[in-house]
Amino acid sequence: MDNRKYVQPFEEALSLKTVTEEADRCLLCLDAPCSAACPAGTDPGKFIRSVRFLNYVGAAETIRANNPLGSVCARVCPTERYCQKGCSRSGIDRPIDIGKIQQFVTDYEEARGFKFLPKGKANGKKVAIVGAGPSGLTAAATLEKLGYAVEVFDKNPEAGGYLRYGIPEYRLPNKVVDEEIGRIEELGVKIHLNAEIVQKTLNDLKDRFDAVVLAIGASQGKVLPMFKDAKNVVTAVDFLAKTKSKAGKIDLPKSALVIGGGDVAMDTVTSLKLLGVEEVTDVVYETFAEFKASKKELQGAQRLGVSILDGYMPTKFEGGVVEFTHRYKESKLSVKADLIVLAVGQISDLGDITDIHLSKGEGTDRGNVFVTGDIAHGDKTVVYGVRTGKEVAYRIDAYLEGK
Ligand SMILES: Cc1cc2nc3c(=O)[nH]c(=O)nc-3n(C[C@H](O)[C@H](O)[C@H](O)COP(=O)(O)OP(=O)(O)OC[C@H]3O[C@@H](n4cnc5c(N)ncnc54)[C@H](O)[C@@H]3O)c2cc1C
Ligand code: SF4
Repeated sequence: MDNRKYVQPFEEALSLKTVTEEADRCLLCLDAPCSAACPAGTDPGKFIRSVRFLNYVGAAETIRANNPLGSVCARVCPTERYCQKGCSRSGIDRPIDIGKIQQFVTDYEEARGFKFLPKGKANGKKVAIVGAGPSGLTAAATLEKLGYAVEVFDKNPEAGGYLRYGIPEYRLPNKVVDEEIGRIEELGVKIHLNAEIVQKTLNDLKDRFDAVVLAIGASQGKVLPMFKDAKNVVTAVDFLAKTKSKAGKIDLPKSALVIGGGDVAMDTVTSLKLLGVEEVTDVVYETFAEFKASKKELQGAQRLGVSILDGYMPTKFEGGVVEFTHRYKESKLSVKADLIVLAVGQISDLGDITDIHLSKGEGTDRGNVFVTGDIAHGDKTVVYGVRTGKEVAYRIDAYLEGK
């Protein structure tokens, strides 16, 4: 099997010349709409201004002051929904490619070994964080900067949550995830791996630490009832986790049917295609007009030759054949494939934990147990994980310092 396309970046990075050209297009807006639109407050208006004046160190400092996962966000942020959406340059030709400029700056920072995450003066208080995904890691970095001693517990063998076990290598290399986590550990954060927290161990953390954060995400793929316990059917998150942890060296089917039309579905069909699966069909409940995946991801999948059929709902699964009916037209479909991948959403798995309540899938703080990230909020992006990770750190600081 040939995994070369899977492990190579899907998009080219900017060079010194092209980053300068891109930054030169920026209008240096006074109340920069891009900065106002970043959920994590990464302040693109300010760091692009620094790049314009060839001050890459200042640009990196701005990014890090606001976003401990700046290098990850540069690669995976849906910028068309946030900073680039209101970019004033769109009125002239096209928005500034903010993600690519941010990637250049954070790569520059990494290559020169700069350290911009300052550790705070120890205040003698301890916080435990359950979950080493983007929200837990950001909460950890922010609390360390505020002077807390932080320990993170994750059930997986490696830290990163969906950064490590979801977003494919060609969009987010594990090397970048390692570098970001390395910076956070250098601040003093201790990460315990293979450490699943259940109610009993959570009780222990509540006693030993001044506050506990649950940042356990939404790590379980949903299974439609008709596919329960069926052979050759997997969830997209399980498929993507396995594919990334084996760097694409997995047994491949001859044909695959993916059900779902969000970004997770696009990552699945694109991974399958890059790994060489010839026949990849994606059947989507939404019509193209209602599509959930970003345009960029959808177009990328279409360019690779994935057949995308929109507006169909699965109605029956028998003998390895899935039947679909169109939601608006008189049209039916039958699809048979060696592998069926379900990309129909993710849910949180609390196990036996009763310390938080989930209402409509979203959790709330209780006593000295706080929640953050996908489990607490609906947006489900890395940059929202960063935002809510910072917010929970400030909530804990206010709670423990009586502010
Ligand atoms: C395939 C895929 C592609 C995506 N692509 C993008 C993208 O391009 N851009 C974007 O912005 N967002 C993307 N997302 C969404 C983004 O990854 C999530 O919104 C984000 O990771 C949520 O962060 P989190 O910290 O809340 O949870 P997670 O990243 O899910 O991390 C939760 C962590 O908690 C741990 N955990 C769970 N239960 C326990 C327990 N009981 N004890 C100990 N540890 C536990 C898990 O092992 C995990 O490490 C994607 C998601 C997926 C699945
Ligand atoms: S909105 Fe666009 S043009 Fe204005 S400062 Fe931000 S990147 Fe530059």
